Amino acid sequence: MNITKLEKFLGENGQPKFRLEQLKKAIFKEAVASFSEISTLSKDLRDELEKEMKILSFSVEKVLVAKDKKSMKALLKLNDGNLIETVLLSPLENTWSVCVSSQVGCPLGCEFCSTGRSGFKRNLTAEEITDQVLFWKQWLKNNFEFKIKNYDVSKVVYMGMGEPFLNWEQVKKSLTDLTDPKLFGFGARSLSVSTAGIPEGIAKMAEDFPQINLALSLHFGVDEKRSACMPINRQYDLTELREALQKYFKLSNRQVFLEYVMLDGINDSQKDAEALARFVKSIGKLQLLHINLIRYNATDAKFKASSKEHTLKLKNYLLDQNLSVTIRKSLGEEIQGACGQLAA
Ligand code: SF4
Repeated sequence: MNITKLEKFLGENGQPKFRLEQLKKAIFKEAVASFSEISTLSKDLRDELEKEMKILSFSVEKVLVAKDKKSMKALLKLNDGNLIETVLLSPLENTWSVCVSSQVGCPLGCEFCSTGRSGFKRNLTAEEITDQVLFWKQWLKNNFEFKIKNYDVSKVVYMGMGEPFLNWEQVKKSLTDLTDPKLFGFGARSLSVSTAGIPEGIAKMAEDFPQINLALSLHFGVDEKRSACMPINRQYDLTELREALQKYFKLSNRQVFLEYVMLDGINDSQKDAEALARFVKSIGKLQLLHINLIRYNATDAKFKASSKEHTLKLKNYLLDQNLSVTIRKSLGEEIQGACGQLAA
């Protein structure tokens, strides 16, 4: 929802100042899907708003719901015809997390990622990012079978299509809007931004939003392998990432999540486990580093998911090294809404 445009419209139509607050409450807190639902406004104003303004900056092409109703994916058509995807997940009962996209496609081209293979079209605006959250709020409210106890969104993660730090100005504005008590009102700790490793972005996060969670898609503990699968590592290698994290800890002192997608025969051997442990230990501040081992969701790429046995072996090795690690449950595979599967 474009608040600046809404404010201008109300001013031009001689509406009192409190009208904007009334509308913000209805749109962001009550998640109305149309202006006609706002009964506190006059019929004339509702009709005028319906004619002149839109609550969402895209149209919804399709929503896929997994059989267990714990994950859903929506295909959204932007005003210029570009398509993006956004995902809603319920990792815990009555808890809903939205995974937002920050770009149309992604320029970083990680080998194992569907989004990376689909190329890059453009950055999303802050409005297009936050509208993904607004859309899921409306959707949960209007699909009553999901109204069990809590149908509201409790977390937002920037892990959809795109690299958030390559669109920092708009991502920054979207984070400001998500934490604005008069708009979405999320606590900073309910938000997470995930990067493939852009040191400049990590530094900006620490300065601008030290309370918002940071996740780093690490996936490899040695440069040779990381550069082969993640081209961004040729620009910013593990030494630069280590320094970026060390600086981050000086400013934020918040836990960082290291994401490690388990790829069969690529990064799941004992040697890979040792390299990962070495790299993580070299960062220091081990109490603030947590490794998430993630099941790879098969796309049409040349990669396969590691076996449960290999994943468990790697986890146990890291635990023996006194590192904090969990195997993260993967939701959304059936609807191709899991990590690395968004391709619009
Ligand atoms: S894994 Fe993330 S950074 Fe890499 S190509 Fe996919 S969306 Fe981009």
